[in-house]
Amino acid sequence: MTLHKNLIDGEWTGTDGNDNINPSNTNEIVGRYARGSAADLEQAIAAASAAFPAWSRSGILERRDILKRAAEEIFTRREELGALLAREEGKTLPEAIGETVRAGQIFEFFAGECLRLRGETLPSVRPGIGVEITREPLGVIGIITPWNFPIAIPAWKIAPALAWGNTVVFKPAELVPGSAWALVDILHRAGLPAGVLNLVMGQGSVVGQAMLDNPGLSGITFTGSTTTGKRVALASIEHNRKFQLEMGGKNPMVVLDDADLPVAVDAAANSSFFSTGQRCTASSRLIATEAIHDRFVAALIEKLKSLRIDDALKPDTHIGPVVDDRQLQTDVDYIEAGRQEGARLAFGGEILQRETPGFYLQPALFTEVTNDMRIAREEIFGPVAAVIRVRDYDEALAVANDTGYGLSAGIATTSLKYATHFKRNVEAGMVMVNLPTAGVDFHVPFGGRKGSSHGSREQGTYAAEFFTTIKTAYTKP
Ligand code: NDP
Repeated sequence: MTLHKNLIDGEWTGTDGNDNINPSNTNEIVGRYARGSAADLEQAIAAASAAFPAWSRSGILERRDILKRAAEEIFTRREELGALLAREEGKTLPEAIGETVRAGQIFEFFAGECLRLRGETLPSVRPGIGVEITREPLGVIGIITPWNFPIAIPAWKIAPALAWGNTVVFKPAELVPGSAWALVDILHRAGLPAGVLNLVMGQGSVVGQAMLDNPGLSGITFTGSTTTGKRVALASIEHNRKFQLEMGGKNPMVVLDDADLPVAVDAAANSSFFSTGQRCTASSRLIATEAIHDRFVAALIEKLKSLRIDDALKPDTHIGPVVDDRQLQTDVDYIEAGRQEGARLAFGGEILQRETPGFYLQPALFTEVTNDMRIAREEIFGPVAAVIRVRDYDEALAVANDTGYGLSAGIATTSLKYATHFKRNVEAGMVMVNLPTAGVDFHVPFGGRKGSSHGSREQGTYAAEFFTTIKTAYTKP
């Protein structure tokens, strides 16, 4: 089987590799991908450092054209890249194609942003002197991504980094190297000079750790677990470099008595279970007020009964498999923990057998949950949701905010008063009214508060906060 190699200084290199396994059918190898070493990572950082002076001063039209060409190829190959993504990660084909299109849109957006990096001029407090505030590229950026959005998250980190003149060393999650490799191949062929974008696939504990330990990076942008995020933070402080973390969530979705029931049920089913619940913006706490609680639970269970869990590539599949055996075991352990703590498993939670061997899990819905149970406090990252019964809106808001996380939050209500109050008072970076907690636009800021995020926002023009550094220049003519 062909080995998909690492890209270092414009050359495809590597001899050792790992098999990329399809979670819908563990007999199928999606491809073979290089397993990089700490030495590869060091070479990649050296190449990115050498490429930085020229790239940071390159013309904005050159950068724009490269990103635009990459976007066009992603759009043209959306079906093929979507199928690759669905095969390696397990989300359904429509979800995977949607994510691929999102990646194309991000490159298209940042192609335009190459031409729009603004500065400011102000008069000095000293007469006759001018002050200019400009944004410059940060330097060599290290990018570490998780497995759950194999093309969109790399896109929303790589595109702004390159657009604003940085060079990149990219380490994708070992579980999903296929989409990462395809993206880097596209950008390489789109005309990036050698060393501007380097790909080092391999284990987090080896390649990722080598990135954290290397003093040659100006910044690291990371998405993944809280545990690894803390390592990124500590190492970055040690090396005095900028860092940006997007980590977990325990996102609440409040359902008020006055909610439109079908809207609430659709939003909850989507938030909690689509993409197999493996989204950092997934809602795992459904907080329902007294008068709607029983109707909401009954309707949600009916909805869950209608969902087909099967191979990600089958056209009628609603929910694909869990990503791997480890995550499946975590999900099953949490389902057991919920039972032990006294919550009621109202639906699902069974491991399913399908035509092919895969990690299939029936969505699990718990009721009679209190917000102090582990299933209400800890991120599970699977198709497991907990319904928490509350008296009224005030208690719903208090429970929604009673968490160490703060990424996304939702409310289903027809009341302008409660929707407005919730938007202002919920402690989250993103708020959704009558919409799923997951599913965001690509041109506006993405990120959270409390334990979910650290540093400035990702995506849209706000991404400039991380990927550029500010210079203040004084001139006396
Ligand atoms: P991990 O933190 O395990 O992995 C994230 C990345 O970090 C992977 O590329 C991994 O490599 C790498 N890594 C692991 N150990 C180290 C290390 N010592 N040094 C440097 N890098 C390392 O998270 P998962 O990939 O398992 O992703 C799931 C988690 O990510 C969930 O908790 C989820 O909430 C969170 N997440 C948050 C998002 C957000 O925007 N807030 C979005 C998506 C996910 P490898 O896996 O190859 O070993």
